[in-house]
Formats: sequence, structure tokens, C-alpha cells
Amino acid sequence: MNIFDRFRLDGKKAFVTGGARGIGKYAAIALAQAGADIAIIDRDMEPAQAAAEEIAAFGTRTLAVGADVSEYSDVQSMMVKILSEFGTVDIAFNNAGICINKNTQEMSLEEWKKVIDINLTGIYLTAKAAGMVMVAKKAGSIINTGSMAGHIIPEPQYHCAYSASKAGVIHLTKSLAAEWGIHNVRVNSISPGYIDTGLTQAVQRRSWIERVPLKRIGKPEDLQGAVVYLASDASSFTTGSDILVDGGFCCW
Ligand code: NDP
Repeated sequence: MNIFDRFRLDGKKAFVTGGARGIGKYAAIALAQAGADIAIIDRDMEPAQAAAEEIAAFGTRTLAVGADVSEYSDVQSMMVKILSEFGTVDIAFNNAGICINKNTQEMSLEEWKKVIDINLTGIYLTAKAAGMVMVAKKAGSIINTGSMAGHIIPEPQYHCAYSASKAGVIHLTKSLAAEWGIHNVRVNSISPGYIDTGLTQAVQRRSWIERVPLKRIGKPEDLQGAVVYLASDASSFTTGSDILVDGGFCCW
């Protein structure tokens, strides 16, 4: 088979959490351009619906689901909707996440729990829901969004809960890959560096750019190649991996 054909996702069924904007939305566009039907999952239905309508222009089926990924009951009803509309799930991009930038002395227990609940437990819940379907049919690709903050401690802003949650995502990914490889279910993560999205609007960025070897902040489009690669047969022998897409930040 031609190598470019191995990147195609025609007829595959995918969901993207946090798909209404930022990295998730651009990942959903890339998956649709490669041929997959896409369910956009986001906390609020309205932005999820708007993104789903926009992405439908690429010619594949889309579906919008409002769900909080940290709520078990929401994740259960999300899967019911996806399975009733699409019949199955082949690709899960577990991407929804938040960041609270605070020094540890100022962070409350509630804030710590909120970050861990969404960023780590949320990925556990959505990966498990997709994995149950994929293990049963012995095929599937799960992609989780980590962060370079799961590898290093970026500064000047501090966010101990965020960094801990993302290190957890990278190790959860390896753990699921080891467990589900025998069922032909691949599980990988992507760790972005600084990317220009809503998540990073409030933070001072000049010092970041100086430290990035490629001398710029990333765009959500910069993640699209890694997402399609990991979703597709082009990565058929890749599991338990983390792909850093950080402009070289972690080289230092
Ligand atoms: P954005 O804030 O632009 O988008 C995140 C999306 O996820 C929003 O639509 C948000 O909805 C949604 N979301 C948040 N919490 C939940 C939830 N509990 N259930 C369902 N949806 C939710 O962020 P990014 O696109 O930048 O971030 C995407 C992922 O990439 C995150 O996991 C983030 O940690 C990671 N990342 C981002 C980096 C960056 O520099 N931007 C760097 C490294 C990692 P709402 O609008 O309602 O909050």
C-alpha cells in the first residue's frame, strides 16, 4: 500500500474531547480531512454544535455531544450517543483539559482536585469508555493529550497540579498501551509545548519565545500531523509513545 494511503481514515469513527476549540478543534478538522466521521465532545453543547457544523464542511459526518469528561455519568451518556449514531469508535482523542496557574502556596485543595479530575481522571474515563469498545473488537487507536509540563517544569508560571496531571497522563498512556496491546488497541500521547489557544491567552509569552529553539509559539495546526499519524495505520507499530510537539523547548 502507498504510504500516503496508510494515513487515510476513510470510514473510521472518531471522537475528540475538548473539540469545540483550540487543539481539539484543529485535530478534529485534520481527522475529518483524512476521512473520519467525528463526534465533537465539549463541556457545553452550543460551541460543540458550532464546531461540528463547521467541520461537516469537510464532507464527513459529524456529531456534537455536550459532556463534562470528569463526570462518569456524562461519559457514559456520551458513549451511548456516539454508538447509537456511529455504531462504533475507532479513534479516541482524549484532549479536554484545563490549567490553573498559581503558586502552590496559593492553590486551594478544590483547585488541585478540579485540575486532576478533568486532566487525569477525565482522560481515564474517556479512554476506558473507548477502550472497552476497542478491546471487544480488537482494533482501535487512543490518543491522549499530555504536555511538555509532564516532562519538565516550565516557568515563569507555576502550576503543580497541571504538571502532575500531565505526567500522570503520559504514564497512564503507557500503562493502557501495555495492557491493551494484546487486544490490538494502541494508546499514545501527544505532548504539546506552548500553543496559541484560549488556554495560554492569560499568560505572558515573551520569555517563552526566547526559550523555544524554533523561536515561536506553536499553532494548533502544528499538532495535526501527529494526531493523524497516531490515529492511522501509518503508526501501526507505535504504542505507549509520547510525541513532543514543542518547537524543541524540552531540548534545554
Ligand atoms: P482550550 O482551552 O483552547 O480548549 C480546551 C477545550 O476543552 C475547551 O473547549 C474547553 O471547554 C474544553 N473542556 C475543558 N474542560 C472540559 C471538561 N471537563 N469536559 C469537556 N470539555 C472540557 O485549550 P487547548 O486547546 O490549548 O488545550 C487542549 C489540551 O492541550 C489540554 O489538555 C491542554 O492541557 C493541552 N495542552 C495545551 C497547551 C497549550 O499551550 N495550549 C500546552 C500543552 C498541553 P470550555 O471552553 O467550556 O472550558
